Formats: sequence, structure tokens, C-alpha cells
Amino acid sequence: MVTAKVWVLKKHFEGFPKTSDFDLKKIELPNLKNGELLLESVFLSVDPYMRPYSQRDMKEGDIMIGTQVARIVESKNPAFTVGAFVVAGSGWRTHFISDGRDLRCLPSSWPESLPKSLALGTVGMPGLTAYFGLLEVCKMKPGETVLVNAAAGAVGSVVGQLAKIGGCKVVGCAGSDYKVAYLKKIGFDEAFNYKTVTSLYEALHKASPDGYDCFFDNVGGEFASIVINQMKKYGRIAVCGAISQYNDSMPKKGPYVQIPMVSKELQMEGFLVTRWNNRWEEGLNALLKWVVEGKVQYHEQVTEGFENMPTAFIGMLRGENLGKAVVKV
Ligand code: NDP
Repeated sequence: MVTAKVWVLKKHFEGFPKTSDFDLKKIELPNLKNGELLLESVFLSVDPYMRPYSQRDMKEGDIMIGTQVARIVESKNPAFTVGAFVVAGSGWRTHFISDGRDLRCLPSSWPESLPKSLALGTVGMPGLTAYFGLLEVCKMKPGETVLVNAAAGAVGSVVGQLAKIGGCKVVGCAGSDYKVAYLKKIGFDEAFNYKTVTSLYEALHKASPDGYDCFFDNVGGEFASIVINQMKKYGRIAVCGAISQYNDSMPKKGPYVQIPMVSKELQMEGFLVTRWNNRWEEGLNALLKWVVEGKVQYHEQVTEGFENMPTAFIGMLRGENLGKAVVKV
């Protein structure tokens, strides 16, 4: 009999999440039936979507949603061998049982030297979000100027590097000077700290006086309202996320978008990375190749200890992470 530790949502978040909104519990797992596997989480992901999705999909007392890299510790399913690593979406749990249908194996070419936690970040869902968002929604072309916000995070840092590989000029914004220095190190042409500039409009204008062809928006809200007026004619805006709004208790009113949309003939498209579930393998193989070749660099913010899941999640929402925020069990 195995005892799993799990984090449950004790109380729906009101405004910014607090550690007291979570509860750590223990549950006894039953013995395996034929066809089942026992897995232990090795790395767990903390992601912005957990904030709005918990409100939409969960009730108080439910185990927190989320993905992990897990190791198979026992198998009664001939398709899976003990010791193999997989990506699962089993929520905030140390151990769990699966029938194998919801598991994704790491790409077979995954080098031993590469951290398996990257399967939750640069070579996982966030990397794919950057890949498909840039290629299919922004439809970037060589010579164009791409802007990305939350640029030093899991998605944003890949967006900037893929745009450079695609022959674009890249501008990024992040919330600390340390993050800005990192963006320059990984090849961004222009980067600035959106928290310390006196005028966001001026900073964006200085970084690209001609404006922006593509805007990969992770932040939404006021930031996006300012950028829309600096888009070039026929510019494309990929609405990936709206992290500046996830903790709002009351929806804010902002400027309306129609006038710049019409006068500049813009395209603005929201997307979810799951739209390309049938091209997951293509995206992962491309990202893995670039990482192995050193063309895409990565950084991970690793929090040690399953007991620190809520702290890591809250820290990520506050901007304490450089690159992908993960928890090592
Ligand atoms: P990150 O690793 O970028 O972490 C979140 C970052 O957001 C923080 O580090 C912080 O960086 C920034 N941030 C927090 N609050 C604000 C704010 N009020 N204004 C501006 N920036 C803020 O997370 P991800 O890369 O995982 O996700 C980035 C975005 O992409 C999110 O909006 C997420 O919901 C979205 N997403 C969408 C997907 C889709 O399918 N559409 C899939 C995956 C992610 P800083 O210090 O710079 O403020």
C-alpha cells in the first residue's frame, strides 16, 4: 500500500492566492489492477492557467490541477516499463495510479544529459505554446519585429528565441533588471523593465520606432491596450494569456480596441496550445533539436520539496521565476 501526498484547493482564491487556500492531505492508493501503473512525481509544474482554471473547473476540496514528469515505479501494463519517465496530467500528487491512456512518453531522442523537467517547460507545453503561437497565429516572417511580454518566463523566453531563429527583430519586457539582463544574454535585440520605465508607450516606441508586426501577448490588460496603438499596418496579435487580469476580483474596463484594429487592419486571435494536439510530436522534436544544438537556451526556477507547491505557485504569479517554474519533489 502506498500513501500519496496531495494538495487540495481548500478555498477558492479571492484576489491573489494565499498559502492558506491550500491543504496538504494524505491518501492511501489501492493495489494495482491488471493494466495499471503506479507512478511517482519527480517534477511538478506550476503554471498561470491554474489560477483561472481552478475558478472555472474545480470545486473546493478537489486536488489541484497540473502536470508532472513522473517515474513508473510499478507496472501491470505491458506497454510501460518500470523506471521509464512520462509526462502526466494528474494534478498536485506525489504518487498516482494510471491505466496509461493519459501518459505521454518523453521523445525517444531525449539525451541523458538534459534535465527531464524541461518536458514541463521549453520542451513541453509552454515551449509548444511559443512554437504554435508564433508560427500559426503570429505567422511571423523574416525581417519583421516581434514583441513579447512576460518575456523572461516559460513561454516568453522561447517566443523570443524562436523569433530570432526565424530572422526577426525581437523586443521583450520583463519585471526586473535581472530578467532584462537575461533576455539580452539569450539574444533579444531590445529588452526593458516594464515596472521601472517612466512611460510604457515611450519605452515601446524607443525599442522599435517603426512599431510592431507581431505582438505575442501573455499579459493583456493595460499593457496590451498601449501596444495596440503601436502595431504596424496588418500587424498580428496572438492573445496567449492575460496574467495581469487573472487575480482581478472585478473585471476592469479598458480602452476599446476597435479603432486601432480598423485603422491599422490588425488581426487579433486568441488561442489555446491544445488546438495543435495532433502536431505535438512535431513541435517537441523541433524544440528538442534546437535545445540540443544550443540554439534555444533555457533556465528553470526549481523549488525543492512537494510541501512548497503553493509557495512556488504564488511566487510564479508574483514574478519570482526566471524561466520555467517547477517543483522538484
Ligand atoms: P511565466 O513563466 O511567464 O510566469 C508568469 C510571469 O508573468 C511572471 O514571472 C511575471 O513576470 C509575469 N507577470 C505576473 N503578473 C504580471 C502582471 N500583472 N503584468 C505583467 N507581467 C506579469 O508563465 P508562462 O510562461 O507559463 O505563461 C505566460 C502566459 O502564457 C500566461 O498568461 C499563461 O496563462 C499563458 N499561457 C497560455 C497558453 C495557451 O495555450 N494559450 C499555454 C501556456 C501559457 P515579470 O517579472 O516579467 O512580471
